[in-house]
Amino acid sequence: MTIDKKSMKFEAETKQLLEIMINSLYTEKEVFLRELISNASDALDKLRFAAITDASLIPDGFTGEIRLLPDSQNRTLTISDNGIGMTYDEVISNIGTIARSGTHELMKSLEKQKAEKLPAELIGRFGVGFYSCLMVADSVTLTSRKAGEDTATVWEYSGGESYEVREGTRDTQGTTIVLKLKDSDPDDGLEDFTSEWIIKRIVKKYSDFVRYPVILPVEREEGEGDDKKKVVKDETLNSMKAIWQKSESDMKEEELNEFYKHVASDWSDPMLHIAMKAEGRYEYQTLMFIPGNAPFDLYSQSYKRGLQLYARNVKIMDRCEDVLPEYMRFVKGVLDAQDLPLNISRETLQNNRQITAIRSTLTKKIITELKKLKDNDEQKYLKFFEQFGAVIKEGVHSDFENRDKLLPLLLFQSTNDKEKLTSLEDYKSRMKEEQEEIYYLSGESREVVENSPHLEAFTKKGFEVLFFTDPIDDFMVSGLPEFDGKKLKSIGKGDVELGSDEEKKELEEKQKDYSSLLEALAKPIEEHVKSVQLSARLTSSPCCLVGSEGDLSPHIERMMRQSKLAIPNQKRVMELNAGHEVVERLKARFDAGMSDAEVADAAQLLLGQALLAESSPLPDPAGFAKLVAKLMV
Ligand code: ADP
Repeated sequence: MTIDKKSMKFEAETKQLLEIMINSLYTEKEVFLRELISNASDALDKLRFAAITDASLIPDGFTGEIRLLPDSQNRTLTISDNGIGMTYDEVISNIGTIARSGTHELMKSLEKQKAEKLPAELIGRFGVGFYSCLMVADSVTLTSRKAGEDTATVWEYSGGESYEVREGTRDTQGTTIVLKLKDSDPDDGLEDFTSEWIIKRIVKKYSDFVRYPVILPVEREEGEGDDKKKVVKDETLNSMKAIWQKSESDMKEEELNEFYKHVASDWSDPMLHIAMKAEGRYEYQTLMFIPGNAPFDLYSQSYKRGLQLYARNVKIMDRCEDVLPEYMRFVKGVLDAQDLPLNISRETLQNNRQITAIRSTLTKKIITELKKLKDNDEQKYLKFFEQFGAVIKEGVHSDFENRDKLLPLLLFQSTNDKEKLTSLEDYKSRMKEEQEEIYYLSGESREVVENSPHLEAFTKKGFEVLFFTDPIDDFMVSGLPEFDGKKLKSIGKGDVELGSDEEKKELEEKQKDYSSLLEALAKPIEEHVKSVQLSARLTSSPCCLVGSEGDLSPHIERMMRQSKLAIPNQKRVMELNAGHEVVERLKARFDAGMSDAEVADAAQLLLGQALLAESSPLPDPAGFAKLVAKLMV
């Protein structure tokens, strides 16, 4: 069957992305070559992998290669590979559409930044790969023939809103991309990409480690005098060394950075690399990276995690999830395990003993390296924690085996220092002698918790309180009863035992004296509170609300309701500060005789204040406003 030439329109988002690339002011335009070579190298990996089960895909004497063919007269640059190639449908879905989950987010960030120019790290994070060639070319023709098929597909784009596809021919399997280059403009990063020296420099810079030869035919003069003649010889431009197989001292930073960009499809440098060679029972090598910035979709379902998995020099999986626990999903890189069977399936991997052992070792190695970073380079660690702290907290919750090693990696805001975050270890070292527990308070922001009435008695007594302002903190702490022998205790929940025995006794006495008032106040607001009690934690505010030990924090409860999660209504205890003038006067008025309506108004006013102080919404804001107005006349 022959397929007629067809003109197809890009989808709206793809079109937008194309326009961004075409008009990109991104100056390092030369990276287009890295992207195309990277794709070619992937295609060769895929072919080698497919040939494990179907040897006929690779003819005898086959060597995978990537060829560059510049034509300075016609101003074209051709990049071709003899990799797996694409079918007609694959060309349309891989090249004609950008079905990536990130495209929409990319557009949103662009709008938000009101930028014409897409910052490099953003382009990279959204992985525009193939389309980066539109930074340097006016038109692109791609011809691809899938291994095992006889015909090829031609895809052509020369500006505008649509592209053309038709059937074509190609001698072997693989893909050829012909770029019709824009005019050179070195100020705009548009060098002469047909120049032998420029091509050599770019390949060396970005793609030296690619494991297939990147070949450029070069013209040289040979012979002497009359015998002098021009000959064209193939030159391999890259050293093709698998960087992870080198010893760590031979890994150059620039090389590591470029390799990272290749494996992670990122355009910015990584924050840290972790290299390791294991010998003994299982032999493997790994080169892992922590990205410089958290991928935009790190917390979304569609995020693709895992390391590239090699066995005996063949890439057998692009993202092997089983070699790292889920919370370590931010780690990118490669794992080369010599003894894994090449045809191992995803299902058998999960239960493979070697993989389980590797996962355990890699996890510990990453934790150790992060701890080193924390101890040796505070600034860099802070940047790490800002980007990935929440994922480490996930680990505290889920990785029981390594919990004790993860805890020292945590950092929190606290009452101790406005500027600096504190570790649990440092907190512990500052604990007062009489302090039994590590105190924390949850809330939606530092401002809210810092001004919370719950803090008052703790501040007065000089007890440090950690601020849990990340939604994951509460989730994490639910699986973390203690740190280094000290319990973690929310000061927004349950009883607090701060005072001396005498003070406690005094409070008990007062509680008796206040009992009728407390009961009377509870009645009109019983829909919202469990009871009304006197407080041991307030010193300057009249009241606050306190949950039970197992309750969700109010801001988490709110977030869950906003996400339409059905959760039962959690009633809390309203605590009153018997030392506060408002409460003292209320008691005096109550003893002298107050009507039920007056008691109800007082109860509503106290409840409203307690809710406002913790940034919770009021059940009846208009009613509250009326009561406040009534007070003011
Ligand atoms: P990415 O490589 O990040 O997936 P690209 O836009 O660079 O994004 O490529 C999209 C897809 O097109 C690739 O995932 C691959 O399936 C296919 N592709 C691109 N270049 C080639 C090639 N040279 N050979 C075979 N397939 C390719």
